[in-house]
Amino acid sequence: MDQINIPEDVYDVIIIGGGPGGLTAGLYASRANLRVLLFEGNSTVSQITVTDMIENYPGLPGVTGTELVNRFKEQARSFNLEIRAEQVTGIEETRLGDVPGLKITTDRDTYHTLSLIVATGANWRKLGVPGEEDFIGRGVSFCATCDAPFYRNRDVVVVGGGDTAVQEAIFLTKFARKVTIIHRRNRLRATGILQERAMANEKIEFAWESVVKSVLGDNAGVTGVEIEKVGSPGDTRVIEADGAFIFVGLVPTTAVVKDLVNLDEGGYIIADATMKTSMAGVFACGDCISKTFRQVVTACGDGATAAYNAELYIDELKGQTY
Ligand code: NAP
Repeated sequence: MDQINIPEDVYDVIIIGGGPGGLTAGLYASRANLRVLLFEGNSTVSQITVTDMIENYPGLPGVTGTELVNRFKEQARSFNLEIRAEQVTGIEETRLGDVPGLKITTDRDTYHTLSLIVATGANWRKLGVPGEEDFIGRGVSFCATCDAPFYRNRDVVVVGGGDTAVQEAIFLTKFARKVTIIHRRNRLRATGILQERAMANEKIEFAWESVVKSVLGDNAGVTGVEIEKVGSPGDTRVIEADGAFIFVGLVPTTAVVKDLVNLDEGGYIIADATMKTSMAGVFACGDCISKTFRQVVTACGDGATAAYNAELYIDELKGQTY
């Protein structure tokens, strides 16, 4: 067979994202003896690192998000995964010797790779109401684990009815005097056990079928939120609070690949069962892909699948298919 020429400095796999999906892909790809580089963003952190307690990752009950990610990292590094804190700013198709590849530009340097795994995750969605932006860091928060201790014996509101809102509301009761969950429906979306715990928690109250119209405050910070009854325009009231924690879902972090691969209408990357995207050599995994169930364990599963299929793709490029 003819020798296939690929320059020496080319990575087999570059991974963007240092959350559970990216690190699992890094573990699998580096354990397969591929040359792998993972970029963890320096301006964004994996959402999991701001989760105080993970109860549903099999085998590690009660682990914190940071601890779990640190364990993932340590394990992946033991197989020589290279991790750099750089922000990817550009991805371009190119030729690498005899084969197609990608040129990855970061805020510091340029790299070349045969394949790419996008594991960029998602970020908190904002409400987009008056006052929200103005009071970020002065009462408006998207991270209970980070900010809850500032609200000892004070009143706070939590907006949203999903797993995050309810889990974080329960966490906030360790500090706050009262936590009011404001939800636009008359029941919670969150999973059963979280609902049960929230209902049983004496510090938690509910403002059902209500939406936040504005976040109110003064020079010292948030003083409350104005809410309106769903379906009753003008039926408003103010809930006094020192903090407003907003957990109304996610926005995928996919801007860097939006012109390269197909996205769904929500901006999530469309990947098939092998985690392959619409572009050859580009795979995706974790919270940034279009799917129904976003969990640490599903991100890890996606990551392993992406790494395995990237390996098959690279073997084929190198003429080494088994
Ligand atoms: P989510 O499941 O999408 O829930 C978002 C909540 O915000 C929903 O209740 C939604 O209302 C509400 N909402 C959305 N836009 C709104 C708006 N503009 N105004 C008012 N309310 C609004 O998001 P999430 O809770 O952040 O969870 C994200 C993913 O992570 C999910 O897959 C979740 O299962 C997972 N997660 C799992 C755990 C766990 O297993 N312990 C913990 C955290 C997160 P509707 O209900 O009316 O749509």
